Amino acid sequence: MASSPVPPRLLYIGGEWVAPVKGGSLPVINPATEKEFARIPNATSEDVDAAVAAATAAFKSGHWSKTTGAYRAKYLRAIAAKLREHKAVLAKAETMDCGKPIDEASWDMDDVATCFDYYAGQAEALDGRNAAPPAIDVGMAEFDVRVRREALGVVGLITPWNYPLLMAAWKVAPALAAGCTAVLKPSELASLTCLELAAIAAQVGLPPGVLNVITGTGPDAGAPLSGHKGLAKVAFTGSAATGRLVAQAAAANIRPASMELGGKSALIVFEDADVEQAVEWAMFGAFWTNGQICSSTSRLLVAEAIAPAFLQQLKKRAESINVCDPLTEGCRMGPLVSEGQYRKVLAYVEAGKADGAQLVTGGGRPAGAPGSSGYWVAPTVFAGVTPGMRIWREEIFGPVLSVATFATEAEAVAAANDSEYGLAGAVISADPDRCKRVAEALECGIVWINCSQPCFCYAPWGGIKNSGHGRELGEWGLDNFLSVKQITKYVSPDIWGWYNPPSKL
Ligand code: NAD
Repeated sequence: MASSPVPPRLLYIGGEWVAPVKGGSLPVINPATEKEFARIPNATSEDVDAAVAAATAAFKSGHWSKTTGAYRAKYLRAIAAKLREHKAVLAKAETMDCGKPIDEASWDMDDVATCFDYYAGQAEALDGRNAAPPAIDVGMAEFDVRVRREALGVVGLITPWNYPLLMAAWKVAPALAAGCTAVLKPSELASLTCLELAAIAAQVGLPPGVLNVITGTGPDAGAPLSGHKGLAKVAFTGSAATGRLVAQAAAANIRPASMELGGKSALIVFEDADVEQAVEWAMFGAFWTNGQICSSTSRLLVAEAIAPAFLQQLKKRAESINVCDPLTEGCRMGPLVSEGQYRKVLAYVEAGKADGAQLVTGGGRPAGAPGSSGYWVAPTVFAGVTPGMRIWREEIFGPVLSVATFATEAEAVAAANDSEYGLAGAVISADPDRCKRVAEALECGIVWINCSQPCFCYAPWGGIKNSGHGRELGEWGLDNFLSVKQITKYVSPDIWGWYNPPSKL
């Protein structure tokens, strides 16, 4: 049995490693082998209470929340440096935990470090924004009105397993930059690297209670966190079904909850596209991270005129993807994260066949999968998919691409927008005017032109409709964790005069 690249950890609360009150633990399963290689603590409401109490004490002390952004930036940069130092171990742990190819996991670790560096810069910029906020013209010279941005308070951060540390970084880095203190609850399916983030926080001397990390299941640890009265906000990334529960729990306390949920994103390929380029982006969109991406290209709309040539090339290239042990350099597809996810994806493959879609390739265990165990599904393409089919409408969250054809631009846009989700969309065409028109017409939060999936921590990320609301990343990500305080000053030497006319009104 391969051993864990990271040491066993407890819960990280108030700057200490503590055992969960009820002593529970959960197995960490390598999805490539189905073997347990570590255990993580299973926190319950008692541990959530302790973590929120520690974060509250840290927030109220002012030793973090009332410091300058420049002060907090030093810690964020120190965290980024440690992440880079430990990149190889973190990437290996993430690959063993969730099955993503090691090259992707390494790339993710670079993104995680960049995210912390970026929000260090945002924390410093916040000092400038608060030092000299522009006056707001209220139409009365007697008043000087400005805003001050302040840390919201203690925030609960709940994250999924597909980008275990990156999804946590998208929340932890801006929350800490803003001056908030946080309780992070990663997915029970992939928590190892988030516990390592806690270890790094300890190594750089982050003040106790500023970042608390508790692991455990959704019902045991996530639910008590999302409904905790001590939070100022919940930031959630995960499925729409869980998001609904989290939003309801936060709403009961009249607390905001940002929602980064699922998707069913479409890529539209027009007849003037370079087919080789378009096939590459379609594959990257559908099969990167083993197809387990919220914004993945799960629906492909290809112009009728080029559909036969496109599908032929897509089949050939999908079948040549290097599927192997994800710890091998050069691997381009590993196993799905868990048995549950594996069964769910295979059930969708069966639903596609039963609904009459044409299986172009894949659908079963790929030839390159090592041994006979592990949760492997080959890169899968269905053609002839129609709007009523479940594989066209529902989020599969696996390497399954549904392809349909279209005759006109209007038809393609209408089909792309005919979804309960609205996270991302993409268009590939040699005509820049058409790309612009389609980008403006797509009902979603992110649009890619002549590509699919690139994501940068400097630009906003988030969706509409059932894909959620709020934006992460960029300056929007910082604003998520800031409260805007209006400060209005009376600057006239004259009496206000309401009771002693003439009044100023
Ligand atoms: P999930 O909803 O099952 O779980 C997400 C998190 O919520 C986990 O930490 C889980 O333990 C926790 N949770 C579960 N039940 C809970 C409850 N009752 N109360 C509070 N927390 C609870 O999602 P997942 O399977 O981990 O991740 C896949 C989903 O995440 C997909 O739908 C995907 O599209 C979405 N996702 C969205 C984005 C985005 O940016 N929009 C990014 C990544 C993943």
